Amino acid sequence: MFNARRPSLSKTLSSDLISEDPNAPHVPRLTRRLTGFLPQEIKAIETKIPVQSRELWNKHKVRKFGTAEEFEEKFISHVEWTLARSLYNCDDLAAYQATSQSVRDNLVIDWNKTQQRQTARDGKKVYYLSLEFLMGRALDNALINMRTDTSSQDVGPTDETLTKGNTAREMIRNAMKDLGFKLEDVLEQEPDAALGNGGLGRLAACFVDSLATGNYPAWGYGLRYQYGIFAQKIIDGYQVETPDYWLNFSNPWEIERSEIQVPINFYGYVHRPESEKTTTSPSDWIGGERVLAMAHDMPIPGFKTPTVNNLRLWSAKPTTEFDFSKFNNGDYKNSVEQQQRAESITAVLYPNDNFDQGKELRLKQQYFWCAASLHDIVRRFKKNKRPWSEFPDAIAIQLNDTHPTLAIVELQRVLVDLEKLDWHKAWDIVTKTFAYTNHTVMQEALEKWPVGLLGHLLPRHLEIIYDINWFFLQSVEKKFPHDMDLLSRVSVIEEGSQERYVRMAFLAIIGSHKVNGVAELHSDLIKSTIFQDFVKVYGANKFTNVTNGITPRRWLKQANPKLAELISETINDPNDDYLLDMSKLTELAKYAEDEAFQKKWNDVKQFNKSRLADLIKRLNNGVDIIDRDHIRNTLFDIQVKRIHEYKRQQLNIFGVINRYLCMKEMLQSGSSIDEVAERYPRKVSIFGGKSAPGYYMAKLIIKLVNSVAEVVNNDAEICDLLKVFFIPDYNVSKAEIITPASDLSEHISTAGTEASGTSNMKFVMNGGLIIGTVDGANVEITREIGEDNIFLFGNLSENVEELRYNHQFQNTSLPEALVKVLNAVESGAFSPQNASEFRPLIDSIKHQGDYYLVSDDFDSYVATQDLVDQVYHKDKKEWLKKSILSVANVGFFSSDRCIEEYAETIWNAEPVKPE
Ligand SMILES: *Cc1c(COP(=O)(O)O)cnc(C)c1O
Repeated sequence: MFNARRPSLSKTLSSDLISEDPNAPHVPRLTRRLTGFLPQEIKAIETKIPVQSRELWNKHKVRKFGTAEEFEEKFISHVEWTLARSLYNCDDLAAYQATSQSVRDNLVIDWNKTQQRQTARDGKKVYYLSLEFLMGRALDNALINMRTDTSSQDVGPTDETLTKGNTAREMIRNAMKDLGFKLEDVLEQEPDAALGNGGLGRLAACFVDSLATGNYPAWGYGLRYQYGIFAQKIIDGYQVETPDYWLNFSNPWEIERSEIQVPINFYGYVHRPESEKTTTSPSDWIGGERVLAMAHDMPIPGFKTPTVNNLRLWSAKPTTEFDFSKFNNGDYKNSVEQQQRAESITAVLYPNDNFDQGKELRLKQQYFWCAASLHDIVRRFKKNKRPWSEFPDAIAIQLNDTHPTLAIVELQRVLVDLEKLDWHKAWDIVTKTFAYTNHTVMQEALEKWPVGLLGHLLPRHLEIIYDINWFFLQSVEKKFPHDMDLLSRVSVIEEGSQERYVRMAFLAIIGSHKVNGVAELHSDLIKSTIFQDFVKVYGANKFTNVTNGITPRRWLKQANPKLAELISETINDPNDDYLLDMSKLTELAKYAEDEAFQKKWNDVKQFNKSRLADLIKRLNNGVDIIDRDHIRNTLFDIQVKRIHEYKRQQLNIFGVINRYLCMKEMLQSGSSIDEVAERYPRKVSIFGGKSAPGYYMAKLIIKLVNSVAEVVNNDAEICDLLKVFFIPDYNVSKAEIITPASDLSEHISTAGTEASGTSNMKFVMNGGLIIGTVDGANVEITREIGEDNIFLFGNLSENVEELRYNHQFQNTSLPEALVKVLNAVESGAFSPQNASEFRPLIDSIKHQGDYYLVSDDFDSYVATQDLVDQVYHKDKKEWLKKSILSVANVGFFSSDRCIEEYAETIWNAEPVKPE
């Protein structure tokens, strides 16, 4: 859809279309393109129901609700039957559950049809393996995506029941009102499904939305953690983690598939029959511990399509086999305990973002999930009785980071040990099936597992990994004879002085036919740094880029209904088709300087800022820190994302401190408050985000933000010109309130460290401007929206190495303004009881080489913030123009575009469109 307009995309597409990648599976591209237009073969689906009974089934076919009245009937039957409640004890929570059950019923009908359709058409299926799905809430999203059908009775709300501009969501809102409920209050009852840490997990959530919307036959596979990412409380300014028991009330969005239980083994030993001489021949793995993986399905509705895809999440259960040897020894308690241990595998999401902790239970989670998913995929494939060689034509598996790398090894094991395929034939199938998405270049985030640990937990898999590596190194040796250095550099096994490790990223590259980064800069960087040797070995074609995206349904329509309404009205698109074709937004550019339109645009922003101010007040124990009379000329400056040194919240808070000190200095030297306000106009600095529980420095940054807030917010002298607030427990549903309210958002990572970023896209989609470094997707955002419409600053990634070197080996001096800031912090200005509290933050800059280059970018950051103030306060028209043009040109960052690119250049998969 963007091919003609977007140089970046057309480049990616055309180059990938021309180059015939020897590793690419399947049909030549041209053929594939053509078959897309031919009627696809319809296969009969097997059923146990005899022909003569089918009529009866058809007679009692379940039906979706389509009108408000049908919804109301459903709602009440769910209150009475499903919840066993009544008119007299139906509260908002019950109303949420009954509404969700009713909407789910509609989705399930479409889910069943979608699965039948996809099975019958037998096109290539895509499986997205992600250890994280940061879904947020489901109900509002389902209402927005709900089809506004035009035909037949077994469908959702029809055009007749929905008057113009009246969506399914409006119909339900009115029905709820008639039933005695307010939709907004009911929606608030839903806990977030927070099965992820940050960007990587949210990307997976946006992808499943776009896959369904694009009618791709695609399933997500993940884990059903009992506890998602912890809930963050701020106590005395410190982060305190509390468990997120999101399943406290029953979850209406999951369908428990108790009939789908996959046995998963761990530990044990390998037995090789006498006749089999080598590790590459079929071997038996005798597992030492067995648990069951049970499936839970979440329906994933597409927007304006009856396609409902599946997100299958596994939970661990004990087997029903009982350890009788223990029992007979009288060790009943121990035997029960061991059974209970099974459940611990899916108990909790590891709360690290961009960091590898290397814990055994985490490896267990990974294998549990990979093995269960692979088993499920293989089982479905085998039903079709196609030859194994066609596996890669039927199935594409995308690995979201290295977390699912064991799936590569597991498929090889299934094919060799269980299906008795020749090693090399099996390996050919494996590599044609998998593709791997890299999410980081940072060493501390690259997964590696001690050989001993992996071999203990998965003895057969370690053998297979050794063999994969052996054959790979053979091929490298052939191509680059006698290059011992190269061999050790690319080996899957890292030979350290102490322990040997399995490098998961290398295994993922070797086992995949494509490797992609998530923004152009990032994809270039991995080719010249961590994967340089693999480019040499495989050639550059194996490596590609797919720039991340976000779903405009959630991040525009759902999060910002007012802006969505203004857009659809302005570009004359009452059915919101722009949410499927974001190039329509370019129409908005015409109005960028139109005064009447600018006013409407600004009014929407004010509304959203008030909404956020309300949230902040609520989170601040009812105390309003934002002066509502001045909200229009208060700049909302927001940085919400995981707290990480590389994301540089410390740079932001040091900037805030600098601003505060400069204001105080002006006052001390006799300036009036008006003069101060002229130089430092109204601003509220908003932070939010979780730190990994064991990440000391990140937690200290949170404490510093709160300590600065305490001082600044209570300093009467500065007359509320500056406010600081840390929003506790940042999550998807909070992001939906926060994102639309930004005037400015901060994406200020050290150049070369943020792979892409996706919140930068969310903010731009909501008309917020960006202050940012030349990093990740900021680069392409700049290209798309124009460099006049973004505030870039700081050093470039190509200079980072040298700057770090200088800190280590030259005497670099810190900028004067930063020295003042650090001195103030060091003097205890923000921690009077404990002046040395923030020493580690200061030391890392002053004495430990300033690895994240805060000092190198500080002056440039402050100067750019001054420029931001100038434009925002002195030239509001210019600001609004930038804001409008940003939204007009944000279309490229729809995850629909992203999924199209994956489908065309990596998966070779086609949509299965409903009739
Ligand atoms: C989008 C999103 C992120 C990712 O933010 P970045 O700034 O790109 O790191 C993290 N958390 C939540 C809740 C999000 O919605």
